[in-house]
Amino acid sequence: MAIKSRNPATKEVLKTFEPHTSAELENILYTADAAFAKWQKTLFDERAKLMRQAAQELRDNNRHYAKTITLEMGKPIREAVAEINKCALCCDFYADNAENYLQDEEISSDASISYITYQPLGIILAIMPWNFPFWQVFRFAAPSLMAGNVGLLKHASNVPQCALAIEEIFKKAGFPEGVFTSALIETSEIENLIKDDRIKAVTLTGSEGAGASVGALAGSQIKKTVLELGGSDAFIVLQDTNVEETAKMAAKARMINTGQSCIAAKRFIVEEAIAQPFMQRMKFYLEQMKRGDTLDETTDYGPLARPDLAESVQKQVNDSVAKGAQIILDGGQPEPESAYFYPMMLTNIPAGTPAHDEEIFGPVACIFVVKDAEEAIRVANDCRYGLGASIWTGNVPEARRLARQIEAGAVFINGIVQSHPALPFGGIKKSGYGRELSYVGIREFVNQKTVWVA
Ligand code: NDP
Repeated sequence: MAIKSRNPATKEVLKTFEPHTSAELENILYTADAAFAKWQKTLFDERAKLMRQAAQELRDNNRHYAKTITLEMGKPIREAVAEINKCALCCDFYADNAENYLQDEEISSDASISYITYQPLGIILAIMPWNFPFWQVFRFAAPSLMAGNVGLLKHASNVPQCALAIEEIFKKAGFPEGVFTSALIETSEIENLIKDDRIKAVTLTGSEGAGASVGALAGSQIKKTVLELGGSDAFIVLQDTNVEETAKMAAKARMINTGQSCIAAKRFIVEEAIAQPFMQRMKFYLEQMKRGDTLDETTDYGPLARPDLAESVQKQVNDSVAKGAQIILDGGQPEPESAYFYPMMLTNIPAGTPAHDEEIFGPVACIFVVKDAEEAIRVANDCRYGLGASIWTGNVPEARRLARQIEAGAVFINGIVQSHPALPFGGIKKSGYGRELSYVGIREFVNQKTVWVA
C-alpha cells in the first residue's frame, strides 16, 4: 500500500510514496552492513566532525525542516523550530561527549589489569513515532552513530517526508552511505527485519501494544531492545505552591505538542485546600491558548496528527463521562473525521474509566483532588505507567523526599518534565525499559566487553 503524507489540518495529501520493495530493502540492509564494517573503525574525531556538521545543517535550515514537521503532523511551527534546534543540540552534545562516555573503564579485580571496553554492535533498527518526528530519531541516532553503530529507521507511516529528510541531513553532513538509512516499509515487514542476523538490536518509541509486540519478537531472537512507551504523568500540586504560577505551568505541561507527548502531564493531582482556585486558573490558561494556522508563529495548538487519533481521544472522554466523570472545560473533536481536538478538563473521575486507567494522548487534563501529600503519592502510583512526574511546592526538601516514593523514570520538582541530552530518559512499569540520552543511553547499544589480564 502507498505511504501517504497528509496535512492533518487540511486533510490534503502532500505526497505519496511507494514502499521499498523486498529487493530494495535487501539492498538497504546490505549497504548498512557493509557501512558498519568501516564505520566501527573510524575515530571519534571523525565521527564528531560529521555529527557537528549534521547539527549545523539542522540549524542552518531549521525553518525548512520545521515546516516539513508542521505540514506532515500538525505541530505548530514555533514548537517545530524548537524541536529542530534541540536535535542540533543533541548532535553537538554527543559529538562533544561520546568519546569520554565510551572510554575504557578500569576496574580493580584479581587481574593485573581489568577493564570494560565499549564496542559497537552493528545495525540498530529504530522504530519511531510521529509525535516528535525529528527529536525521537536524533535522540537515538546521535549517540548510536557516535558509538560506531549504524542506524536503520522505520518511521511512523504518517511522517515519510520527515524520515527521508533525516536521511538527507546525515548524507549532507558527510556520513558515508548506509550509516543512517530510512526504510519506507509497513509494520508487517518488521518481523522479518528483526529476524535478520544483520540487525543486532531494536529501539522503539510508541504505544504499549507496539512495544509489547516488538519486545516479544526481539526476545525470540535474543536481541536487545530499548522501549520508550506511553505515560500518564502525574503533576502533583501541593497546597504550599504558588497557585497562579503552577496553574499556568499545568496548562502548558498538558498542551505540549497539542497534548501528544509521552511526558506531557496528564493527571493533575491537587491537594483539596487549593483545588478550586487551581482548577479555575488552569481552565483560564487553557482557554487562553491560541488555536489556528499551524504556520503562524503565535499559534499555540493545532490539530492532532491524524483524525483517527482525535476520534480515539473523544471516545476515551465519552466513555469516562458516561461512567460519571465530570466535565469542567468542554471541548473535544469539533466534528467527526476532524483531526482537531479542543482542550478539555475532567474531574471526579471514577476508577475503571479510560480517563482514570489509560493514557490520553491528546489535550485532556484529568484532575484528581486529594486530602494530602500522602494520598497524592498513592494516586500518582496507582497507574500502569511510570515515565515522568512533577511535584509543585514551596518545600523542596519535602518534595525531594516524596520524589523517592514516586514510581517513575524521572521526577521534576517545580519544573515541567522534559528531556535533556545530559540526563537519562526512560520509564518503568508499562512505560518501557532502558534509557536514552546521557552516558547511560549511549551504553545501551554497545558490547560492554570485559578484558582481564593475568
Ligand atoms: P504506534 O505505537 O502504533 O506507532 C509508533 C511506531 O510503531 C510507528 O513507527 C508504527 O508504525 C510502529 N508500530 C505500530 N504497531 C507496531 C507493531 N505491532 N510492531 C512493530 N511496530 C509497530 O502509535 P500510534 O500512531 O498508533 O499512536 C497511538 C498511541 O501510541 C498513542 O495514543 C499513544 O498512546 C502512543 N504513542 C506514544 C508515543 C510516545 O512518545 N511514547 C508516541 C506515539 C504514540 P506505523 O506508523 O507504520 O503503524
